[in-house]
Amino acid sequence: MPITIEDTLQWLRQLAQACQENRDYLTQLDSTIGDADHGINMDRGFKVVVEKVHAQTESDIGSLLKLVGTTLVSTVGGASGPLYGTAFLRAGVALSGKRELDESDYLALLEAAVEGIQARGKARQGEKTMLDALVPALAAAKAAQAAQLNLAQIARRASEAAEEGMKATIPLVATKGRASYLGERSAGHQDPGATSSWLILKSLAEVCARSSNT
Ligand code: ADP
Ligand code: MG
Repeated sequence: MPITIEDTLQWLRQLAQACQENRDYLTQLDSTIGDADHGINMDRGFKVVVEKVHAQTESDIGSLLKLVGTTLVSTVGGASGPLYGTAFLRAGVALSGKRELDESDYLALLEAAVEGIQARGKARQGEKTMLDALVPALAAAKAAQAAQLNLAQIARRASEAAEEGMKATIPLVATKGRASYLGERSAGHQDPGATSSWLILKSLAEVCARSSNT
């Protein structure tokens, strides 16, 4: 089953809920290797996103994602606002005019998001950032698509790879963002941005799973 506009709205609502529920957890992770605002940033940003996209059922998915991107850029400060903002904007451009998403559209969304974050933040995998969740997720999604898995399965594989990538940030030394100020002392702690990236892909996978059961 493809992802519809209503599913996309459901994803954003569910993600906002996850940001609220994990606000203290993300902030606690950021207090160890950053400035203790990542949960606050994500919760504030996605609350406004849900208000903005409310009743946008006539829109297409590309426009919806672009609106998410501009909203995040204008409401979320710090590094993550412009980075996630660029990710959603680029994903929106890649899905311009689409009213449904299939397997290859899911790949296009994730690929555009990763490229946007790389272009904006100049980080690569292994630098203890959100890319350590997202790059393995994209690789897993590509492998799942090559193995002819369906959309719900592809999204689940990507979410699982993001979770593994998130955990694998623990021993890494940060070389980008605020955590890099700590140098070697950043090792031993999970990256907050990799954690929120997992939440983003997890909520999308849940919506894909539900839509394939209907
Ligand atoms: P800030 O660090 O400005 O307080 P947040 O706390 O909201 O912003 O976000 C921190 C997260 O941003 C980090 O955990 C990391 O995953 C991500 N991040 C920081 N710099 C970069 C970068 N250059 N590329 C990708 N992700 C980054
Ligand atoms: Mg911070």
